[in-house]
Amino acid sequence: MKTLSLIIPCYNESSSLQEIYHELSNVLNDDTLSTLYNYEIIFVNDGSVDDTLEKIKAFSIKDETVKYISFSRNFGKESAMLAGLHHSVGNVAIIIDADLQHPPRLILDMIKYYEDGYDQVIAKRCRTGESFTRKHLTKFYYRIINKLVDVELVDGMGDFRLLSRKAINSLLALPEYNRFSKGLFSWIGYDKKIIEYENQERVAGESKWSLPSLLNYAIDGLISFNSKPLRLLIHLGVIITVLNVIYIGITFIRILLFGIETPGYFTLIAAILLLGGIQLISIGVIGEYVGRIFYEVKRRPKYVVSQSNIISKGEQLD
Ligand code: UDP
Ligand code: MG
Repeated sequence: MKTLSLIIPCYNESSSLQEIYHELSNVLNDDTLSTLYNYEIIFVNDGSVDDTLEKIKAFSIKDETVKYISFSRNFGKESAMLAGLHHSVGNVAIIIDADLQHPPRLILDMIKYYEDGYDQVIAKRCRTGESFTRKHLTKFYYRIINKLVDVELVDGMGDFRLLSRKAINSLLALPEYNRFSKGLFSWIGYDKKIIEYENQERVAGESKWSLPSLLNYAIDGLISFNSKPLRLLIHLGVIITVLNVIYIGITFIRILLFGIETPGYFTLIAAILLLGGIQLISIGVIGEYVGRIFYEVKRRPKYVVSQSNIISKGEQLD
C-alpha cells in the first residue's frame, strides 16, 4: 500500500479549516483511492495569529492521520510548503491551499496521472472571474518573465500540484534560502501533466496577497532565477557608452569646424537624467543580488518549528 501526503500551508485560516478538512476526508475516503493509498494530512501552521493551531490540534486528537507543524512566527508560504515536504513520508505528496481555492476533488485525477507515471501533476487555474487589471497585469508579467529567466513559467500554474517522491527529493536537494517555488518546480524537470480547473472564490477569510506583496513576488521571480537582469544592464551600459562616444566625437568635430555654439542646456540635462536613471536601476539590481548573497551565506534555517506532533524536539529544523 502506498502513502499519500497532503500538505496544507495555513496562515490565519481558522474560518476555512473545518471545511477543507471535511472535503479532504471525503475525497481521501473515496473507495478506489482508499484501497490503494494510506494517507497523512500535514497542516503547516505558518505563525497564524488566530486559532488555526487549536483547530488543527483538535483534528489531530480525533484523527491520527492529521499531522501538524507549527512555526514560531510567519515565515511565508514557501517555507510552509518546504516544511511539509521535508516531513512528509508519502510516496507521493500533494500541496493544496487551505482556502478551498484548490478543489480537493482534483486529487483523484492527479493520483490517476501519477499512476500513469507522471512525476509532477499540476492543476492549472484559468482566470475567469478575476478583475480585468489583475488578469492583464499577470499576463504581462508572464510574457516578460519568460523572456528573462531560464525556466519556463506558465500563468495559472500555482502550488496546487502532485509531486512524486523522486520530485520531492530533488526539490529538497536544492539548498537555497530564497525560494521561488514556481521556478524550482519547473527547474527540477520530470514528466509533467497539466490539468485545468475553474478559478474558485475563497470560502472564507481573505487573501494574504496585497498588490505590493505581489509586486515583490514578481521581482523575486525575476531575480532568483538567473543573472540575466545584470547582463541586460551591461548591454545597456555598453550601448549608451558607444552612443556617448559618438556624440562626443561629433560635438568635438563641430567645435573644430564651427567654433563653440551656445551651450546646450537641453542635451546636458538629458544626459544627466538619463545616466542618473540608468545608474539607479543598476545599483538597485546589483543591490538585489548582493542582498541575496548576504541571505544565502548566512545559511539560516528557512523556518523554525515551535510545536509539532511529528518533529521531535531538537531535531534539525530547516
Ligand atoms: N499562506 C501561508 N503563509 C503566508 C501566506 C499564505 O501559509 O504567509 C497560505 C494560506 O493560508 C493559504 C495559501 O498559503 O492556504 C494561499 O494563500 P492565499 O489564499 O492568501 O493566496 P492566494 O490564493 O490569494 O494566491
Ligand atoms: Mg487563496
